[in-house]
Amino acid sequence: MTTYAPHPLYFSRGEGARVRDLDGRWYHDMVANYGALAHGHNHPALTRAVHDQIEHGTALGGPSTLQYEHADMLRARVPELQRLRYCNSGTEATMWALRTARAYTGRDVVVKIDGGYHGTHDWGHVSAFMSGGTTHRQQLPGLPSANLAPGVPDTVLRSVVTVPFNDTEVVADVMSRLDGQVAAVIVEPVLGVGGGIPAHPGYLQELRRLTARHGVLLIFDECATFRLGPWQVKHAVSPDLSTFSKIVGGGLPIGVFGGRADIMSLFSPSHPQPVYHASAFGGNSLSLAAGIAALRAFGTPEIAHLDRLGTRLRRGLDTAARHAGVLGRSVGEGGMSYFHFGARPPQNAADTAAARQGRGRLRALVHLHLLNEGFLTARHGLMCQHIVTTPSVVDAFVEAFASTLRLLRPYLA
Ligand code: PMP
Repeated sequence: MTTYAPHPLYFSRGEGARVRDLDGRWYHDMVANYGALAHGHNHPALTRAVHDQIEHGTALGGPSTLQYEHADMLRARVPELQRLRYCNSGTEATMWALRTARAYTGRDVVVKIDGGYHGTHDWGHVSAFMSGGTTHRQQLPGLPSANLAPGVPDTVLRSVVTVPFNDTEVVADVMSRLDGQVAAVIVEPVLGVGGGIPAHPGYLQELRRLTARHGVLLIFDECATFRLGPWQVKHAVSPDLSTFSKIVGGGLPIGVFGGRADIMSLFSPSHPQPVYHASAFGGNSLSLAAGIAALRAFGTPEIAHLDRLGTRLRRGLDTAARHAGVLGRSVGEGGMSYFHFGARPPQNAADTAAARQGRGRLRALVHLHLLNEGFLTARHGLMCQHIVTTPSVVDAFVEAFASTLRLLRPYLA
């Protein structure tokens, strides 16, 4: 949920690819709950699945066959998920993946990407891109620096090292300087909140090589990128652990973490030193019933549709900017896009921060003008489509964006 000045819209209903505010005004939904939805609101199969399940109970206090059904469907898409466990959110999934890596390696340090977003637990909150800017950035453990993430303990800050996205030299340097201390590198294959920046070709392959060489686990946070393929399957790079959430829960809260069987066997009660994982609602029947319906209705044709919509959107926005004489470029992959003002598209979160510097009011005006034109976007620039979004809605959005740029052109120098 996002709030913004002068006051945020409150919504009362969603139907297909549109949402309605409390005043009864409908908007084309270009946010899809920040990428957490992909099927559109009130999708008949998902709604039916939830109705049917609620009559059989929501959380039964033990394993259920729904968990196996959902897990089989996920594993059919992501073969690297040899074993997996359920929790309630992307935050929990990445928190657990990191704890699993620390338990498996017996090491404490986590390497994360500057501006990478993995949810709101303490480790993920170090140098995360939030609407107010990037939180604390830690270059190497032990270095004194101001704590820009109030509430996150110094001990956690000292155990997280951040590196810029799309730069393997820094990672190689950190790996050799901290040889034997790093448990995991965690990365979003497309840097989401940090600017929607796709990994350079070969970047994640090189991370795979470097981490393997130093006995470090590679974690792909695919909470957002499942809607693209998932990324690891589309681009054939195998992490040790991965995390999923959002659309795999069909509109209800869910988190999934898992990967190599030898790592996940740490959770087996018969392991000599088992890792204890508990969750009252992790793997609850309602989320899984919705998730199973969601996975059934989200296959190759739907992903291809989102790919086409995203490509059409990015091309349209770039053309609109060119015609308006405005410096700016769209970035993204598949049905996940951002538009950035400035001469060059960002390659990492520092570039994104620079592109946003001094343009806060401008971006707020773009957002408000698009609302007036009947389109809901995220103020930080994210645009995601639903599988029920049509090309003509994308075209209408591009036209609304073009008229926004024309209107704001005097402020865009
Ligand atoms: N990881 C990524 C890549 C995300 O995009 C998000 C949510 N924006 C999260 C983790 C956290 O998920 P949740 O909000 O469900 O805790």
